[in-house]
Amino acid sequence: MDEASLRGEIVVTARAMNGCGLNRGTSGNVSARVATGFLVTPTGMTSESMQIDDVVAMSAEGAARGTRAPSSEWRFHRDIYAARADVHAIVHAHSPFATTLACLGRGIPAFHYMIAVGGGADIRCAPYATFGTQQLSDHALRALDERKACLLANHGMIAVAASLSAALALAVEVEALAEQYWRALQIGEPNLLSDAEMAVVLDKFRTYGQPR
Ligand SMILES: [Zn+2]
Repeated sequence: MDEASLRGEIVVTARAMNGCGLNRGTSGNVSARVATGFLVTPTGMTSESMQIDDVVAMSAEGAARGTRAPSSEWRFHRDIYAARADVHAIVHAHSPFATTLACLGRGIPAFHYMIAVGGGADIRCAPYATFGTQQLSDHALRALDERKACLLANHGMIAVAASLSAALALAVEVEALAEQYWRALQIGEPNLLSDAEMAVVLDKFRTYGQPR
């Protein structure tokens, strides 16, 4: 996909986050890999007011070009693209249920088999670090090791994928899992699936869905 089309898709994805209940106001951000680096949503703009030209192009090293300043959280976008050749799009949200768990420093264990959408037997919660810092980026990368999603303590969540639509769908799924886990915790301590069962589920997920 060319840069102009990707810019349009980033704006569409950022706007869709509001409708999905992932975002309110100006929190959250979206990016996509391009040949020269990546494109990321600008800082401090609502998705409704954001236009295609407001999306910021950044080099692989993190230098911005254009008139807008990038999201203050551009560092973890840069570092995820550098570390993960499989990732072409990133959605970051302060969605209510994922953030609630993250504020308790709790990741999401294998309380439901769908936790496998995150690529493993749990969704980890990265330790807290100040937003926009290299330390936060380092923590996020570790929590994403062999995973496609993580929570960020006292902050929110990150979902990564091969496309913007897949990253958005994953973020929606992680938020749904966070809500289900939160609801289960209101009544008691959920029964967790074993590592052996999650290995079976993860294997099935590799071949699940429509043939491509
Ligand atoms: Zn954030």
